[in-house]
Amino acid sequence: MLAAAAPAAAQAPVVWVQAGHEGPREPGYRDQTGAGSGPFGSEVAFNRRVAASVVRRLRAKGVDARRTPGLVTPWGAEGATFVSIHHDTPEGSAAIGHAIFGAGENWYHGEGGGPASPVPYSDSAKHREATTVSRAVERRSRALALRLARRFGRIHTPAFGARSPFDGVIPRDGNVRMMRFYGYYRTNAQARVLIECGAGGRDDAFLRRTELIGAAITGALIEDLAARDLR
Ligand SMILES: [Zn+2]
Repeated sequence: MLAAAAPAAAQAPVVWVQAGHEGPREPGYRDQTGAGSGPFGSEVAFNRRVAASVVRRLRAKGVDARRTPGLVTPWGAEGATFVSIHHDTPEGSAAIGHAIFGAGENWYHGEGGGPASPVPYSDSAKHREATTVSRAVERRSRALALRLARRFGRIHTPAFGARSPFDGVIPRDGNVRMMRFYGYYRTNAQARVLIECGAGGRDDAFLRRTELIGAAITGALIEDLAARDLR
């Protein structure tokens, strides 16, 4: 006789990790190749290193971590979390953005030029379909952003080579590039955030520490999954 079936093992939570600007890029944003600065010569080279570190560390903790390039792949995937990894231009800062309810993605001229607009320009390239950000997604996204800010604020310090300011979690009506990022509208993950890890140039000594940064981001992601009873 068979023993009563054990409860099905909880499925490993899925976390999508995007290396910002990595090709292939998203239609409508293909010209946004990222900052041309940083300790590895380009933002995307930094983003790739950190994304690889985060994926490796999440998998070691039993999380089903999956990479996506700039073109969010596959479109509309379900999951616990979506995180997009970036660094800012030399005049910029470190900061954390998240998906918000009742907003939409940014539009640009052609494939990503000019200032961000809430509505298409006449010459905007066609976008793929947008997913929805519900109030619940905003709530979970903000909670994760705050956890990330706590962890990241401990390492983005002069002791670790950081020289730019850390702005923490961007307010709802703040920097639209971070709060209306297209990636939030191509996934169905339950929490959606973006991190600018610092300013390429001024923060190069800090940004070179990709494993330290990967560990801090992973720590926040794991803490957040645990708080949501997903791990
Ligand atoms: Zn970027």
